[in-house]
Amino acid sequence: MVAESYDAVVVGAGGDGPVAAWKLGEAGLSVLLLEAGPFYGNEQWPKPNEESGGEASSSTADLSGDLLDEQFTTREFEMINKLLFGPADHERGFWFRKFPGDGAILQCAGVGGTTLHYTGCHPRAYPASIDEQGHWPIDYADLLPYYREVEKLCEVTPAPVTAKEELFFRGAARAGWEFVDDHNVTEPGYRPQPNAIRPPDAKLHVDGGYDGGFTYPDVRGDTLALGNIAGNPHPRGAPYEEKAKRASNVSFVPAALRTGNVTIRPNAFATDVRTETPLGDSPAATGVAFRDTWTGRTESVEAEVVILAAGAIETPRLWLNADLPRNEWVGRGLTIHFGDNVMGLWDGTDLEGILGKRTIDQHQGQDIAARFDYPGLGMLQTVGTGPGIGAILGFGASASGFAFQNDPDDAPWDTMGRLAGAELKRLLSDYRRMLQILVVSDDRPHQRNGVTVSEALSDEHGPIPLVNYEPSRGDRQRRDELAEIAAEILREAGAAHVHRSDSPPTALHVHSTMRMGKVVDEACEAYDVDRLFVADHSALSNGVGGANPTNTGQALAARTADRILERYF
Ligand SMILES: Cc1cc2nc3c(=O)[nH]c(=O)nc-3n(C[C@H](O)[C@H](O)[C@H](O)COP(=O)(O)OP(=O)(O)OC[C@H]3O[C@@H](n4cnc5c(N)ncnc54)[C@H](O)[C@@H]3O)c2cc1C
Repeated sequence: MVAESYDAVVVGAGGDGPVAAWKLGEAGLSVLLLEAGPFYGNEQWPKPNEESGGEASSSTADLSGDLLDEQFTTREFEMINKLLFGPADHERGFWFRKFPGDGAILQCAGVGGTTLHYTGCHPRAYPASIDEQGHWPIDYADLLPYYREVEKLCEVTPAPVTAKEELFFRGAARAGWEFVDDHNVTEPGYRPQPNAIRPPDAKLHVDGGYDGGFTYPDVRGDTLALGNIAGNPHPRGAPYEEKAKRASNVSFVPAALRTGNVTIRPNAFATDVRTETPLGDSPAATGVAFRDTWTGRTESVEAEVVILAAGAIETPRLWLNADLPRNEWVGRGLTIHFGDNVMGLWDGTDLEGILGKRTIDQHQGQDIAARFDYPGLGMLQTVGTGPGIGAILGFGASASGFAFQNDPDDAPWDTMGRLAGAELKRLLSDYRRMLQILVVSDDRPHQRNGVTVSEALSDEHGPIPLVNYEPSRGDRQRRDELAEIAAEILREAGAAHVHRSDSPPTALHVHSTMRMGKVVDEACEAYDVDRLFVADHSALSNGVGGANPTNTGQALAARTADRILERYF
């Protein structure tokens, strides 16, 4: 049962909220973790999308790998329709937010949050993005002990190399780039992803020679079968905490529950932050009001400290709807790693000379297992997808219209833009000889970009978020430069055809809307509201240079928990 008051209430059990809950629970504080979405793989909610189930969970005894297997299938389409930003009850609609153009905000509700979708890439920030860009009030060195703590719990390890990574590394080396062998990346170069995915079972290294089962306990660890964007339920049959991808639901959530001091209440959408203002003082947070998404009933809970971890769109939305004091940076400075896709296609005979086989087979291996870092510009990473997602990312959307409308002229790609009809069929029929590179740029925080709330449109949780994002000339230049490097790597790896999408802005990584140094101080406590902290990616002062952000968001959340303990307990 949920009590009336706690030492700490954390709003949001996504990538970062459970980290703060774990650390505070370990220190002996009583913690309530409120989550708007469902809790999959928990005996309290055997049918999480059909019935309201229990009220809360406080024990790892509730966690069940078998139940998670039942709920997380290997059918990509089914899972993508399940892992969405909306209530557990799928008879009701999504939670709406407005984003400009053809792009989308990719987030997920539920215990684990958007890490249910994430592909486990867990690199650190580029030190220069923290120490040299002038956005941060802390140094990179301050994060190092917390990176180590997070990486240990997430079991971060270099990703395994399969054909697509081999091709990428070959192209990068031939293009003159160096191999990078450091967690703290200061120079451009290529390397395997530091991944929060357990290494593949040793048996799977025996090329084609393993003919046993692919379920636990025959295989342990990763099964090299993609599936991370769709939740990755591998290996099937494994206990809850033995799943290969260390998303926060299988890593930090069990760790938090194991402290015996943390209660998780899913299906609870926070709608207000309660404050009191002692005479002459600034307001102080005293608790949270939340709405049960099944019953529609609003309840409230008191706390010594309140920690917002609802993600970089909903945290500022909650702040604005709670009518907390505003400064000019609340909700502002959104970065999304303004991205693009560059695809390479090979001839079968060329591949045979390079790989010893006529196909790349991007569906084998991990989704994202090779990367190229360029501090100051951003990064590139190989992406393995099924043909459906690959077609959407690579060919389905473009800011420059259809490919036939664009003349690539002297560009390093042969085609650019959206594909349709015979051309799309021709390229997709070569899916097994295709390698996709995701371009992730180091876009910078601009005040015009970010979250406001609508004056005209509300849902059951208040005025909806309106999101603005428009890259600057510098952001576009960094992305163009990276796309050119991607094309060169593909050519050097032997690609016969290179295609650039020129993708519209899509919020894949969402950060920096409640920036440290602008809205929250160096401990991530709000400048204008005492006892109110932010512990999600919105507190990041910028987009960490373009590196995948979750390791840094989690490290910062762990640090924030330590600062909370120092200041108030
Ligand atoms: C397809 C995909 C692949 C990705 N791959 C990677 C990767 O490989 N590496 C990487 O570093 N990053 C990756 N990311 C991004 C990564 O998942 C996010 O950066 C990370 O999860 C953000 O953590 P967060 O805590 O800020 O937000 P979230 O994980 O989004 O968590 C916020 C939580 O708060 C809940 N919530 C929202 N509003 C409320 C409210 N009012 N009350 C209660 N609860 C609320 C939400 O339901 C959610 O569970 C990927 C993202 C996507 C979409």
